[in-house]
Amino acid sequence: MPSDRTAVVIGASMGGLLAARALSDSYARILLVDRDDLPAEPTARRGVPQGRQLHVMLTRGRHALDELFPGLSEELAGLAVPLIDLHEQVSWYNDGYLMSRRPSQLLAIGLTRPLLEHAVRGRVAALPGIEFVTATEVLALTATADRGRVTGVRLRHRDGAEQIVPADLVVDASGRASRSPLWLEELGYAPPVEDRVRVDVTYVTRLYQREPHHLDGLLGTLANAVPGAPRAGIAIVQEDGRIAVGFSGMMGEQPPTGDEEMLAFARTLATPWITEIVEAATPVTEAVRMRFPASVRRRYERLRRFPAGYLVVADAMCSFNPIYAQGITIAALEALLLRRLVAAGESGLSRRFFRGSARLIDGPWSIAVGTDLRFPAVEGPRSPRVRFVNAYVHRLHVAATADPVLGAAFLRVLNLLEPPTALLRPGTMLRVLRGFWRGGRPYTPVMNPQRVAADPAASTLG
Ligand SMILES: Cc1cc2nc3c(=O)[nH]c(=O)nc-3n(C[C@H](O)[C@H](O)[C@H](O)COP(=O)(O)OP(=O)(O)OC[C@H]3O[C@@H](n4cnc5c(N)ncnc54)[C@H](O)[C@@H]3O)c2cc1C
Repeated sequence: MPSDRTAVVIGASMGGLLAARALSDSYARILLVDRDDLPAEPTARRGVPQGRQLHVMLTRGRHALDELFPGLSEELAGLAVPLIDLHEQVSWYNDGYLMSRRPSQLLAIGLTRPLLEHAVRGRVAALPGIEFVTATEVLALTATADRGRVTGVRLRHRDGAEQIVPADLVVDASGRASRSPLWLEELGYAPPVEDRVRVDVTYVTRLYQREPHHLDGLLGTLANAVPGAPRAGIAIVQEDGRIAVGFSGMMGEQPPTGDEEMLAFARTLATPWITEIVEAATPVTEAVRMRFPASVRRRYERLRRFPAGYLVVADAMCSFNPIYAQGITIAALEALLLRRLVAAGESGLSRRFFRGSARLIDGPWSIAVGTDLRFPAVEGPRSPRVRFVNAYVHRLHVAATADPVLGAAFLRVLNLLEPPTALLRPGTMLRVLRGFWRGGRPYTPVMNPQRVAADPAASTLG
C-alpha cells in the first residue's frame, strides 16, 4: 500500500510518465511537473520536438510497457495501431544485403510518438495520487541544511509565480537538456562524467496515406547507412492507415524536406520501396527536420557522493543516437528497475538505481556507439573488439540473406531481447562463417540505379 509520501517527477514525457508509474505503488502522491501544456489529443508539443519524428518501439520496450500497463498493446490495437512482425513483415536492407524473412515473435507496434505518449499519459492519469502540474518549470532543487538530502523543488508557473514544493523523492526526467549536473554543483556535488559521441544526425519525417501495394504489401522497410553512404531510410505503417517515412543522415549529411529533393534522396537508397511512396503517395503532413548532435551518457553510477531523495532517469541520464530506437525501451526498463528497488526499501536507492541502470544501458550503448564507430568521421576509441564486432556483423548481414536464423539472432539483439554477446555464441559464429564463405546474395536494386556507391565491407574495419 502506498505510504503518505510525495514524489515530484520533473518532465511528463515518456521517461517521467514511466517513472511515475514505477513510483505509484509506493508513493501516495506523485506530482508530474512539465513546462508544456499537455494536449488532450495525441498531438506533438514543444517540449518534445522529437515527437514529430518517426519512432519505433523495440520488442523489449513493448514487453516492458505491457508489464507496466497490462493490456496496453491490445488497447492500442483497438485504436487501429498495427502489430508488425519485424522479421516477416519488414524488409531489412543492411550493408547492401537484404535479410531473408520468416515469421517470428518479434512483434512491434507501429504508431506515432504523440499517440504512444497520449495512451501512456491516459494510463498514468488513471492511477491513484497522480497530479499533473503543467505550464510550470522546475528551476532548482531544495535540500537539507547539510545538503545531504534533496527535499523538493522550486517551481515557476507560467504566470511568473514561484513556489517551493516539498517531496520525499525528486526524479529528474527532463530529457537530454537536463540541468541535474548544474543543480548538483549548486548543492556542492561533483557533476557526473559525460561520455559524448558526436554523430551529427539529421532526421526528416513525413507521414503519407498508406495504400495496400506499398512496400509490396509488407509493413515496413529499412535501408541502413554505411560508411561512404551515410544515408538511411525507413518506412513503417502506423495508426489510421498512415505510413511514416523517415530519412536520416550521419555526420552532417542532411536529408531534405522539399518534394523533389526528398524523391531524389529516396532514389539514392538502394531499395525501391521508399521511392515508390515518396513519388506517388498522398502526404498527410509536412516533412519535418530535426538535428541530433551527439549521443550522451552521464555516468551517475560513478559518482562517489550523491544526495539522498534524488534520481535521474531516461534521456536525462543517457540519450542514444535515435537511429537505434532505444530511448523509450531503456526508459521503460529503468522504470521496472525503479519499481522493484523502491518496493524493497529506499536505503541507498540512488546507488542501487544508478548501478542497475548502468547495467541496463551498457549493452544498448555498445550497440549504438560501436556501430557508429564504423563511420571514420565519428570520434572515439576503436578497440580491437569494436573492429572485430563490426566486421563480424557485416559478415552476418551477408550470411543472413540466405539464413533466416541469423536474421532472427540479429533482430533479437537489436530489439534488446538478447545481449550483443549472443551473436558471438559458437553455433551462431559457425553459421555466420559458413554463410559468408558461401557468399551472400547482394540485392539488385530494381528501380534505383542512382544509389550512392559504397564498400561497407572495407569500411567496417575502421
Ligand atoms: C529524432 C529522434 C527520434 C527518436 N526515435 C526514437 C525511437 O524510434 N524509439 C525510441 O524508443 N526512442 C526514440 N527517441 C528517443 C525518445 O524520444 C526518448 O528516449 C524519450 O522521449 C524519453 O525521453 P525523456 O522522457 O527522458 O525526455 P523528453 O522526451 O525529451 O521529455 C522531457 C520533458 O521534460 C520537460 N522539461 C524539460 N525541462 C523541464 C523543466 N526544467 N521543468 C519542467 N519540465 C521540463 C519537457 O517539456 C518534456 O516534456 C528518439 C529521439 C529523437 C531525438
